Amino acid sequence: MLIVGAGSAGCVLAARLSENPYLKVGLIEAGGPVTDPDIAIPQKWPSLAGRGYDWAYRTSPQPHTAGRQHQWPRGRIIGGSSCLNAMAHVRGHQDDFLPWAEATRSPRWSYQGLLPAFKRCERFAGGASAYHGSEGPLPVMLPDEALSPVVRAYMAAALQAGIPCLGDHNAAGMIGIAANSLTIHAGRRVTAADAYLTPSLGRPNLSVLPGALVHRLSLSGKRVEGVVAEIDGHTTMIAAGTTILCAGAIASPLLLMRSGIGPATELAASGIPCVVHHQGVGQNLHDHLLTAGNVYRSRHEVPLSRLQHSESLTYLRSADITRGDGAPDIVLGCVAAPSVSECLEAPAHGSAYTILSGVTQPTSRGRIKVTGPHIADAPIIDPAYLSTEHDRALACKALELARFVGGQQALAAWRAEEIYPGMDCRSHADLAEFISRAVITHHHPVGTCRMGADDGNVVNADLQLLGLERAYIVDASVIPQITSGPIHAAVLAIAEVFAAEIAAPLFS
Ligand SMILES: Cc1cc2nc3c(=O)[nH]c(=O)nc-3n(C[C@H](O)[C@H](O)[C@H](O)COP(=O)(O)OP(=O)(O)OC[C@H]3O[C@@H](n4cnc5c(N)ncnc54)[C@H](O)[C@@H]3O)c2cc1C
Repeated sequence: MLIVGAGSAGCVLAARLSENPYLKVGLIEAGGPVTDPDIAIPQKWPSLAGRGYDWAYRTSPQPHTAGRQHQWPRGRIIGGSSCLNAMAHVRGHQDDFLPWAEATRSPRWSYQGLLPAFKRCERFAGGASAYHGSEGPLPVMLPDEALSPVVRAYMAAALQAGIPCLGDHNAAGMIGIAANSLTIHAGRRVTAADAYLTPSLGRPNLSVLPGALVHRLSLSGKRVEGVVAEIDGHTTMIAAGTTILCAGAIASPLLLMRSGIGPATELAASGIPCVVHHQGVGQNLHDHLLTAGNVYRSRHEVPLSRLQHSESLTYLRSADITRGDGAPDIVLGCVAAPSVSECLEAPAHGSAYTILSGVTQPTSRGRIKVTGPHIADAPIIDPAYLSTEHDRALACKALELARFVGGQQALAAWRAEEIYPGMDCRSHADLAEFISRAVITHHHPVGTCRMGADDGNVVNADLQLLGLERAYIVDASVIPQITSGPIHAAVLAIAEVFAAEIAAPLFS
């Protein structure tokens, strides 16, 4: 069994599948092991993008975000994007998984179906409960005394604004104020590799091959027989009885398309012979955006975060922010530092704090396209940010709510003045213009090989690649519709479900 990509999902699979001593598991990865000590330091995460272990993707110019090309970092390293991420561990709202179960016609992908996997992942510092696991590989902590004083004041301000208190995003509800659950242990980041892969490395049935850049699948007719990879400058075929793609929401569809699996006309235009016409490959690309931000000059120095800067997320319903029931449509977050897009001048560190705002269920959908048969042919990544009126209107509403919370008395001791958007930015048109320049990715691209029971989908409810034999996809690309929060917890749970409920019965 060959796993392609030692990222978040790949590390879970390598560990879980190799628990079966009769199964031979190979894990191949383009990047190498972690050598940069900054990866383990939570405060350093914003500075990791652009280093040698980042694929450093870029979107196409986005008409609704001032024509900008957004940087999309992705980990090219053992541990994948879990080495770069901001360590927030948020499962999502229970209703987020209804479209998953509906699309696949399988209760396995409902929240109740996924709950055992969410619990199996985690070693929750608060102990086991109906919603939490305490025996899993991944430490999850709810910060308390480590919270920044400005974040505490923000949480008090949200409460003053009428938003309910929640305490924990990963229990019964999701709406309300809570500190972020974090995958930090003893002050250090815990990657998916730390949690899952490293403890499994001594198993004789698990081999890991770093530095293997996979160009395409190796096909015999419609049977996947392994991959064609480049190792030390040499191209070689790696054979496998079963191939599992865990290359992520950008690389997995590209790998398929380079192999001739994708929309026939696009493949032809890129000089790639079509093996299986699959309209869904690369489509349905979507992501969360954050407006960065509603920035305030502080009356006194904002101490450096002892966590990962963005210490609290608040989910709410824009129609009535005092309601604690139902699913959220807006997120706010407090960063104990200035957070702005490349269009805006950043105030000095220590002099300002930020309230971020965003839309939890964006309806904009874009796509990823190949431009040629070679891995060096740069893809076109078009998330179609803010291309729907729904997303633009809610982004405005979210920014207004950020300002509403930011103006509460509980923040008065910190608030000297609003720097961004600035007091004269009030009209809908001015806010919309500001948002187009201020939005940044929340780093959650999904959906490009979506799961489902119909033709437009790329994998079925068993995550099997439709139209081909002996291949599966298990990563963020299979998510048919994004969860309301950061997606890492969901990616790990998908891999846990695949290992326990799909692979284990098949390969026992
Ligand atoms: C900067 C940043 C901040 C984020 N913050 C958060 C957060 O706070 N909370 C949260 O929930 N989520 C966050 N995310 C998102 C989350 O980390 C990712 O969604 C998740 O890690 C994706 O997992 P994956 O397994 O799908 O892909 P990845 O973890 O990206 O793994 C894919 C792996 O495949 C390898 N690969 C790709 N192509 C090839 C190839 N051709 N040959 C060989 N190997 C290949 C890659 O090198 C990589 O190791 C963040 C992401 C980033 C980048």
